[in-house]
Amino acid sequence: MRTVADLSKLEQEIVHRNPAEPEFHQAVREVLESLGPVMSKHPEYADAKLIERVCEPERQIIFRVPWVDDSGVVHVNRGFRVEFNSALGPYKGGLRFDRSVSLGTVKFLGFEQIFKNSLTGLPIGGGKGGADFDPKGRSDGEIMRFCQSFMTELYRHLGEYTDVPAGDIGVGAREIGFLFGQYKRITNRYESGMITGKGLVWGGARVRTEATGYGTAYFVDEMLAATGGSLDGRAVVVSGSGNVAIYAIEKVHQLGGTVVACSDSSGYVVDHDGIDVELLRELKEVRRRRIDEYVEQRPTATFVPDGSVWDVPCQVALPCATQNELTEHGAKALVAGGVVAVAEGANMPCTREAVHVFRENGVAFGPGKAANAGGVATSALEMQQNASRDSWTFEHTEERLRAIMHDIHQACHETAEEYGRPGDYVLGANVAGFTRVAEAMSAFGVV
Ligand code: GLU
Repeated sequence: MRTVADLSKLEQEIVHRNPAEPEFHQAVREVLESLGPVMSKHPEYADAKLIERVCEPERQIIFRVPWVDDSGVVHVNRGFRVEFNSALGPYKGGLRFDRSVSLGTVKFLGFEQIFKNSLTGLPIGGGKGGADFDPKGRSDGEIMRFCQSFMTELYRHLGEYTDVPAGDIGVGAREIGFLFGQYKRITNRYESGMITGKGLVWGGARVRTEATGYGTAYFVDEMLAATGGSLDGRAVVVSGSGNVAIYAIEKVHQLGGTVVACSDSSGYVVDHDGIDVELLRELKEVRRRRIDEYVEQRPTATFVPDGSVWDVPCQVALPCATQNELTEHGAKALVAGGVVAVAEGANMPCTREAVHVFRENGVAFGPGKAANAGGVATSALEMQQNASRDSWTFEHTEERLRAIMHDIHQACHETAEEYGRPGDYVLGANVAGFTRVAEAMSAFGVV
């Protein structure tokens, strides 16, 4: 039988085998810490080395992405796709284009994706990809040539039954269009289900754009409901102002909360009347400007260039920017400001120390693999519509999303109770997510 000591030895081995990948180590550690009781309950999983297999990607692809900028200068970037686990379905997960992307980043994101996708209850495996390409300040033509070069290599690994990418940081509707167009041209197949996040007229799903943010707001509302409350009347702080943040803000407002602050890399904005979502969307998504311009049109709001958005007092915090953005310091500021619930709209935005502060202070904490699963869940609904050559209404799709978030919350909540740790969403999400994957892998034998 597997003991906690065995799991910590395994964690050391994984760190040793995957050097210089701190975010991957952090994600693995968090999952392994939850799995001790599962191993006691299912010794057959330990005998089959299921955890060892889950922690090793099925396939890792690293490739050269050469492209020419508008002035004729040649650039060389590095592309990645980590096909982590296909026990439950084709590899599924986004592509991130950001200067900071490395194999370690993609492995951490792909690892998280396995459990997140499992929690949706839909037939999708886990994967992630991206490139160390910085899209900031690049023209549409440069973005197009980069995407075409990226897909010219990656297409051979993709397919609706094999591996289905989508967007993530730096990859939105424009990039998905260029990527799909190149795949279609190379393969001569109109294979809609090979990528998600598509435009509505060429196979996209309604609500996909809004889904991650909406899902996070639904999830935190469920967390509050579990202790008899709701978002109604609550002051909420959201970090970020990208796709996840914008639609989390919109849904928080629809559910009766008030988002009093949001941020970007230049600083944060405080608006006690509630962030004006239309203005924010226009600034960030249409005009691609910095958030300080928000206050030019909203004189009652203030822009703070230095400091942390977590200093703004609130009852609910939704970190929606990027990994490890909310540290111990930020967590202590939130506790001092009266926070009662935190849900991760981004992937692993809270450091280990921050999560510890929340736990010590009785703050409900919803990890990203549960709280932000609405995005990938709606991607799976997009695949379902593509497979049946159908297109659902906004209302129907949003209803499905809401039901999925409800079920994910319930699975986490009930699993935490079953394992004697009521209210521990980290344990609930890791165990519930792992158990489905483990059951499928066991059925397949040693593969
Ligand atoms: N990038 C999103 C995530 O982190 C969505 C992935 C997808 O839709 O495949 O879950």
